[in-house]
Amino acid sequence: MISNRTKKIKYAIRDLEVGVKPGTIKINIGDPLAYDLKLPKIMERELIRAVRKGYNYYSDSQGLYDLRKEIGKKENVSPDDVIITSGTSEAINFIFASLLNKGDEVILPTPCYPQYPSMVYLWSGKPVFYHCDSNWVPYPNEIRKKITKKTKAVLLINPNNPTGAVYPKDILEEVCKICEEKDLILISDEIYSDLIFEGKFYSVADLSNSKTIVLNGVSKCYLAPGWRIGWITFHNFKDNNLKESILKLCRLRLCANTPAQFAIANVLKYENHNGKNYLEEVINKLRKRREFMMKKFSEYGINCVRPKGTFYAFPWIENKGWKNDMDFVLKLRDRMKVLVVHGSGFYYKSKDIHFRIVFLPNEKILGEALDRIGKFINKKIQK
Ligand code: PLP
Repeated sequence: MISNRTKKIKYAIRDLEVGVKPGTIKINIGDPLAYDLKLPKIMERELIRAVRKGYNYYSDSQGLYDLRKEIGKKENVSPDDVIITSGTSEAINFIFASLLNKGDEVILPTPCYPQYPSMVYLWSGKPVFYHCDSNWVPYPNEIRKKITKKTKAVLLINPNNPTGAVYPKDILEEVCKICEEKDLILISDEIYSDLIFEGKFYSVADLSNSKTIVLNGVSKCYLAPGWRIGWITFHNFKDNNLKESILKLCRLRLCANTPAQFAIANVLKYENHNGKNYLEEVINKLRKRREFMMKKFSEYGINCVRPKGTFYAFPWIENKGWKNDMDFVLKLRDRMKVLVVHGSGFYYKSKDIHFRIVFLPNEKILGEALDRIGKFINKKIQK
């Protein structure tokens, strides 16, 4: 009855919620508004203003010119090289729909935000994974080795979901060079670009000399995931074939949310002059929560690379007798009422038990969740 196309589609982050018991502490979804962080006042004000001013009609399929202009200024591209989508998710879908024929390969990181492999499968492509080092930084040489005649693109997720890694400049430069040499499209998902706790974030847009697509949006750094606005910027493309194909898909789905586009255009205009001040408080809060989490991890003997950005951590423990990481996560969910996501949900294979947690909740809730995890691991009530 149903198509073969959807058979390999998985999104562990949400799939695990089916059957969750009341009272479960959910640290599985990266929704910045799930706990005490709030939509910035300026965003709220501009959205209400847009609706009241009557900006509720269908907008241009490529996205409102004013918004594309502001994003263009930020990303150093022409407004023509910006496309507004219904969340970055739609952008990912449109890119692979436009890029892939049956059997075409996309080189993705492992662990990987699960939308990418699923979308590659959806469009009959083949995900090929590259590993990262002990700090979750990509091995450029492995990327190089994975390239075949069928490779179409290489993906970077920086800052990274699920590991929280922020990539060093020299590594990014190496990956850019590989893509340039091999004439591959570099796709860089930078949706967490402003959520940095230590070190400096570099966008490949400033480092790459060849065909590069950068993805961003308002779900994380503007704390507006429900607005469903994302964007694609095109860098160094000599022809417009890919952009034109994506624009066809944009017209097919009419347009992205119009009042939200108006609102964001005004917010970006404001920020161009005055800076983005609300994030400082968010970052300070998250930095404290990260330290709190790292302390709890070490109390409970949980290994974890300190995340440099985002609001995710990807800890691991030795397997003390669970069938696999999924078994660990389901038992933790059902017995201790804490929901995290298993490492294999991010297409990560390991003999250890890896899982992703979101450190968005305040110390009280996060502490309770981590205490339950610690108890579960150390009392061995896993069987
Ligand atoms: N890309 C990454 C790396 C993400 O972590 C997420 C959401 O968690 C998305 C894209 C999806 O973003 P959007 O809400 O813009 O569709």
